[in-house]
Amino acid sequence: MDELDCAVIGGGVVGLAVARALALAGREVVVLEAENAIGTGTSSRNSEVIHAGIYYPQGSLKARLCVEGKEALYAYAEERGVPHRRCGKLIVATSPEQVGELENIRAKAAANGVDDLVLLTAQQARAMESQLHCEAALHSPSTGIVDSHALMLSLLGDVENAGGMLALKSPIARAECGADSIVLVAEDGTALRCNSVVNAAGLGAPDLAKRFEGLPATAVPTAYFAKGSYFTLSGRAPFSRLVYPVPEPGGLGVHLTIDLGGQAKFGPDVQWVQSADDLVVDPARGDGFYAEVRKYWPALPDGGLIPGYAGIRPKISGPGEPARDFMIDGPKAHGVRGLVNLFGIESPGLTSSLAIGRYVATLLAGN
Ligand SMILES: Cc1cc2nc3c(=O)[nH]c(=O)nc-3n(C[C@H](O)[C@H](O)[C@H](O)COP(=O)(O)OP(=O)(O)OC[C@H]3O[C@@H](n4cnc5c(N)ncnc54)[C@H](O)[C@@H]3O)c2cc1C
Repeated sequence: MDELDCAVIGGGVVGLAVARALALAGREVVVLEAENAIGTGTSSRNSEVIHAGIYYPQGSLKARLCVEGKEALYAYAEERGVPHRRCGKLIVATSPEQVGELENIRAKAAANGVDDLVLLTAQQARAMESQLHCEAALHSPSTGIVDSHALMLSLLGDVENAGGMLALKSPIARAECGADSIVLVAEDGTALRCNSVVNAAGLGAPDLAKRFEGLPATAVPTAYFAKGSYFTLSGRAPFSRLVYPVPEPGGLGVHLTIDLGGQAKFGPDVQWVQSADDLVVDPARGDGFYAEVRKYWPALPDGGLIPGYAGIRPKISGPGEPARDFMIDGPKAHGVRGLVNLFGIESPGLTSSLAIGRYVATLLAGN
């Protein structure tokens, strides 16, 4: 049987960032990816926003790793020439009742160490974005956008430069967790004995962990899937900053983001689905977008929205339940030596990826 120091299951942005951190710490690392390319999962089906760290409960992993990850990501992107832009975002109150909510959001952000939010009157907001309708707004100057594919390629380059490897078409079926090592078994029956294993399989992480013999069943949360569909705008983007409504349960509301090519898109909405493969955008969902978008952009023309793409949030709390924190469990949490499971790595997982990498490497130090 082949032997290896660290195996990272999953070649999405989080798995790659974890592999990079482990490789830079001097560990021997192989990334095992089921598909024939990196980043074909949730990492290529998101808004590509570098979040400031505004909305998450104080002290949560989401809050800590987002704020730390944002700084790390801007610095990394700058250094490596990964395309990105610190374009800023406006959170808009579109009814008088929502205005007070902006102050709550600012207080929450400040508790997370994000103290650069500026409260704007409608007039001040319109001076920044002339087509915007709102009662008041919050400006977040540290929010930005990044080319997630360029980021993943750069992370992979770092892994390989530090001696690590990528194995594509390597779906892992199960594992046997022992006292001194973990044996991974691929779908074709190939077995690999590892000192450390990181389960960064995204939407598939809970299902895979259920097939880790020796891991207590109580250490694996139930997986839920919340689909988010995007509609792209035909024609020029009306805004140069990102525009978000006040958040709604389960997501951040139908917001406007811009990619680095200047293409504007609206979404994602929230639709609970049964399968992680349910990625087709139903054009009919666009009907609901018009009313939502026109609350802050009344000039959206009829027929202006074109079905785009969808991503699925890897949730570990169900419909109507409070959102759960990232669940990044190492040996102290579940009792299996050398194993880290990453569950519920929804937004802001892209922003947090470099910080998650460091965090996991720390959990595995000495394992
Ligand atoms: C609609 C949407 C919008 C989002 N917007 C943002 C945003 O703007 N900013 C932000 O910070 N975050 C955002 N996120 C969150 C972000 O996209 C995710 O947190 C991040 O991409 C998760 O990366 P990952 O590597 O954990 O998962 P994935 O990218 O899903 O990677 C997991 C990988 O594991 C592989 N895999 C699965 N099972 C196995 C197996 N058994 N063996 C081997 N390989 C396996 C898969 O093929 C896949 O490549 C958004 C998410 C969604 C759904």
